[in-house]
Parts: sequence; C-alpha cells; structure tokens
Amino acid sequence: MIGTSYVSMTRAEIEDLLAGFVVRLRAALRAESFDADVVRDIAAEMVSAHFTGTETLRRTIEVLAVMDGKPERLAALQGAFAAGYAAALQERGQLEQESILRAMVAAWQQAERGKRDSDARFAAVFTQAGMGIGVGDLQGNILDANAALLDMLGYTRRDLCQRTVGEFIHPDDALSVWPLYKQLVRGERDHFRVEKRFFRSDGGVVWTQLAVSLVRDEAGAPKFQVAMMEDVTDRQQLQLQLRHQATHDPLTQLPNRALFQERLAAVFDRDCTRVGLCYLDLDGFKVINDSLGHDVGDQLLVTVAQRLQACVAPRLAARIGGDEFVILVEDCSGTDEVIALAEAVLAALAEPVHVGGHALAVSASIGIVDRPVDTMTVADAMQAADITLYWAKADGKGRWARYDEDRNAQELTRLRLSATMPAALERGEFFVDYQPLVGLASGAVVGAEALVRWAHPTMGRLGPDRFIGLAEETGQIVELGRWVLRQACLQVRRWPTGFVSVNLAERQCREPKLVTDVAEILTETGTAPNRLQLELTESAMMGTTDETLRTVRELAEMGVRIAIDDFGTGYSNLSYLRSLPVHELKIAGSFMAGLRCPRDKVDECIVETLVTLAHTLGLTVTGEGVESALQARRLHGIGCDHAQGWFFAPPGTPEAIIEMLASHAILS
Ligand code: C2E
Ligand code: MG
Ligand code: MG
Repeated sequence: MIGTSYVSMTRAEIEDLLAGFVVRLRAALRAESFDADVVRDIAAEMVSAHFTGTETLRRTIEVLAVMDGKPERLAALQGAFAAGYAAALQERGQLEQESILRAMVAAWQQAERGKRDSDARFAAVFTQAGMGIGVGDLQGNILDANAALLDMLGYTRRDLCQRTVGEFIHPDDALSVWPLYKQLVRGERDHFRVEKRFFRSDGGVVWTQLAVSLVRDEAGAPKFQVAMMEDVTDRQQLQLQLRHQATHDPLTQLPNRALFQERLAAVFDRDCTRVGLCYLDLDGFKVINDSLGHDVGDQLLVTVAQRLQACVAPRLAARIGGDEFVILVEDCSGTDEVIALAEAVLAALAEPVHVGGHALAVSASIGIVDRPVDTMTVADAMQAADITLYWAKADGKGRWARYDEDRNAQELTRLRLSATMPAALERGEFFVDYQPLVGLASGAVVGAEALVRWAHPTMGRLGPDRFIGLAEETGQIVELGRWVLRQACLQVRRWPTGFVSVNLAERQCREPKLVTDVAEILTETGTAPNRLQLELTESAMMGTTDETLRTVRELAEMGVRIAIDDFGTGYSNLSYLRSLPVHELKIAGSFMAGLRCPRDKVDECIVETLVTLAHTLGLTVTGEGVESALQARRLHGIGCDHAQGWFFAPPGTPEAIIEMLASHAILS
C-alpha cells in the first residue's frame, strides 16, 4: 500500500498507521461473526487519512486476498472494504467538488457583473482544477471547457464547443439523467449530482462523478450551466471486478450462491408470476473426488458447469455448493418448461466426461420446484427445492423429482411421528390389541396375535402401518418391539391356554441382543417359551445372514415357536423352508380373495399347494385375513390348520381374549 498515495507523513508514521489498519482487518477476519460495518469504517479511515491514490484500493485488495482465512470470509472482507472505500471516496469527492463548484459559480456570476478581479479568480479555478469543468448555455450548447475535461473526453476545445450536452449522455443513463437535466435548465433545481458514463471521442467510455450547477443572472433567471466531473473509471472498473469476484465461483466462473440469491430475491420483488427452480446435485461426486483426486473432481465440475450453461442459457445457472448447482427459471411458463429443462440437463450430463485419461460417467439428481411467486417466500422455495432434491436421490438418483405439497406434508408427519416416538413410548401412548387364532377343525381359539397401536394425543388412534416402517428406519423398532414382547408375555401368562404370536421386524432379527432379550423377558415374566410364537417376515428370512440364522435357531432351541408371516407376498422361496427352524406358515391375506365367490382357481390352487408343501415339511398353516364363512370353509377343505380374520374376530382388547379362552368360545 505504501507508495500508492501522497500522504504528508514520514515513512515510519505511514507504516505504523497501515500496520494498525492491517491488525484491525485481521481481527475482523477472525471475529466469530463477520461485521461488515467495522471493515467499512476502516476503509473510510484510510480515505480520510488521504490514502486515495488510484492504486491504493487495488493494492489493498491484493493484500487482503492473501491474508489467512476462509475463502468466503476473505471475499466478504474484500467486498466490505471496497464498498466502504468507494463510499468514502465518493463522499470526499463530493465535498471537494461542491466547494470548487461554489467558488466557480460565485466567480462566474461576478465575472458576468463585470468585476475583472473575480474574472481572474475564475480563470484560475477553471484552468487549474484537477477536475474537468465545462460551461454550457441553457440550450445545451457547450461554451467552454477546461483542459482537464478536454483531456478526459479526448476532444479539442473547438470540437467540443461545436457539440451539445445531449450528445454526451450515454443511452443507458438517459433515463436517469435527462429528467434532472431538464429540471435544471428550466430553473426548477439548482444542482444535481450523478455517477455517469460519457463517450470519449475514440468511442471509449469514461465513468465520471458528475455535478451540474445552474448559474442565474442578477434577476435570478437561469443563465448558464456549469458541469464538473471527476474521472472515476478506475474505481468503477475495480468495483465491477470486485463485484464479479464476489458473485462468481472462481472454479467454474458460474454465478455463485450470493448472486443466485440476489436474483431469486429480485424475482420475488418484481411482479413475476411464476418461478421455477432446478436444484441439481451430482450423484457420487464424492467418490470421484476421493478416488481420482481433487484435480479430476475440479475439471469435472468445470465441464458440468459448461454443459449446464450451454443447456439452460439465457437462464441463470449458478454453482451454490461443492457439486450443487441451481437453475433459475424466471417468468416460468409452467411445470412443462421446468421439466423439459431438467430433462435436457440430465441428457446433457449423460455424455461421459473425459478428464485426465478417464471417461467419467456422470449422473445427477434434480429437485424441481415451480410455483406462483405469491404462494411462497424465497426461503420456502429454497427449502422446497432442497427437499425435492432429496426425493430425487431417494427415488433412485439420476432423475428429477417435482415438489409435491402432499408428499411434503406426509413426510413432515412421518418426521414428527418418528421424533416423538421415544417419548410416546415412555408416556404409555402405545397399546396392544390381540386377534384370535382359530383352529379350523374345532373353531376353538388356540392363541392370539399381538398387534401394536398408537393412541396419538392429536392424531387419534394410529395403526402399525403408520409407524412400524418409520420405527424400522430409525431403529426405534428395537425398543418398541421389546416393549410389545414384554406386554404380550405379561398377557399370555394370564391366559388359561394358548400362545401369543408376536411380530418381529427384520431389523429386530439383526439385533445381536435379540436372543438374550427374549430369554430375559420370558424369565422375568415367568412365561413358558412354548407359549410364545415369533412371526418373522419372508424377507427377513430371505435376507438371513449366518448370524440371523443362528439367532433364529437359538430362539427355536429355546422352545419358542417360529412362524413365517405373510407368506406368499415376498419371494416365496420354498426351498429355504427346509433348512430353517420354522414351525408355522402364515399365508398372506391377499390369497384369501380367490377363495371367495366366484372362486379363483389359481389362488385356490396356490393355497392348496402351499398347505400340502408345509405339511410335508412338518409345518402347521394359518390362513390370514379370513373375512367370510365361505373362505373359512374352503380353507378348511384345503386342509389348512388355523385361521385368523375378521370373520372370527377383529383385533380386540386383552380382556376380550381372556374371555374367549376362559369360556372355550367356538368361533365359526
Ligand atoms: P400382520 O402381522 O400380517 O397382521 C395382520 C394384519 O391383518 C393386522 O393389521 C390385522 O388387523 C389385519 N387383519 C386381521 N384380520 C383381517 C381381515 O379379515 N381382513 C383384513 N383385510 N385384514 C385383517 P394391523 O394390525 O394393521 O397390522 C399390520 C401389520 O403391522 C402387521 O401385519 C404386522 O406386520 C405389523 N405389526 C403389527 N404389530 C406389530 C408389532 O408389534 N411389531 C412389528 N414388528 N410389526 C407389527
Ligand atoms: Mg403378523
Ligand atoms: Mg400377517
């Protein structure tokens, strides 16, 4: 920074002062939360200490860039510094311009009144001011210009004085400058100030800090205009460059998260009716990065960025995280547009990417949101996109998913249920119903299946289909299952005869502690092992590892009955039944449909085959979901041993079962 400005201090003093600034900037960089105001103030102090040479800002920014800190922090620091510096400079420039203008106008007015001494003073200000000064009449004809102005615009005095003010107004500024200018020449305002572009004679553009004042005659009528301008092109360009840096990803050159959010917020501010977002994440990018190295990963990202941009232009594609990109569809015409876009992107990425001798197959998942702007906020839109991206991943990757309010509501409910489950178990919100298992020959109750329910305080009574899957996902099924098992054992002890059949989720079977848990509960509740039956699903059995197989064996050896639940809905692999310690087959309720009237020969044949096979293997068979006398009769005819279903009794309270068992009820 030293040597970039003329400051009236000794070198040692300057070094001290600058070192002080550096220490404070470093502190700002390391502070727990970043305070942009502190940094802006430091920049303003540098300006007021006259560190204002044209190179000062650029060099300072370079120094900031190599400081120790996180890249986002450094970018924020640079941005805040540049903004503070520019604002302070502008303010200082305005103060200087204003005092010169005031002197100018006074001198001009007096010169008009023929006071020769002030004429000389005017000439001095006019020619020597470092700023460009021009004088024009009210029609816009340029009457005079000083050397600085001629130099700035690249004209001779003669050339310039043949032109009018209007010719210099940059088309992009016309809208903002013309009204001010017209008010001035009409005498409705005495002064205006803008940052404005001018064309140079060679076609180039000069950015200026422009101040225009009106000079009135003695009667107060408008007479001349005086324009004063300072060349701020360097500062402007540096600001543009900094802004580019702060709003673009250095690797891919795509807009970054900050710019994307700015644009998205702008969409919500103006009356855009519908907005679309495609939130994209590469599948398995981490693997590529980890196995082939970050250089390959970086090059892959660059290629992806290029393909994205080519595919979605002129829409905005931004990189908002490691391998996350987002496409903004402003004034979206509808869902079709966004889906077509997502498909085009997936197709563009399907071509292998050649990086460092590898041909990488890339796929991506895309979350699509398209909604009327007035139905959500920016944060809603981003959150929805995020959720939807997760769906696309969960649905199998390499695809898009579209935001769906219902699905989201369902997932929220699931999340809420899953989060409150442990406390609900503790508060005793779960209870167990029992459904009789009936001997088909006698109609007598041989036992009952324990079926868990949740008496939810606000959602009412929830069936297991609402929460068992969830509990399996979170692992809470282990705790819940243990609780059900204990309840069931406590109940069966009160029954004069019969066994209780308890469902075991696949996840529970993989639990190493299952065998000891069961043994403990049996001992603790004083239940004979042969009064307990455990129902495992076919898929739990199919997925058996040696370990689960050992678990099931140990349970069977303990004397506990093992049943396969919902048989026929999974792989129905009959051969494995031979090698497993299974006692009972429960045929899924879906087969009972064919036993109704009119009968379905195929279903009936399947059930018959299953029963025969099970008997050959020495297993008993229960038909589930029996809803009519006809079904019960047919099942009996086929040779099925037991049945369960609404026809006999729906799941009911523990008391109802005790009552049936005690009274030797015949259900038929
Ligand atoms: P499942 O083990 O096959 O249980 C039988 C299901 O069929 C029960 O549904 C029962 O109410 C229903 N059902 C009984 N009779 C009929 C009928 O005549 N027609 C029809 N259509 N359905 C009938 P529920 O109680 O909703 O249980 C659903 C599933 O939840 C159970 O299927 C079981 O897989 C699971 N489940 C229930 N309690 C537990 C538990 O404590 N632990 C575990 N892991 N899973 C459980
Ligand atoms: Mg069951
Ligand atoms: Mg079942």
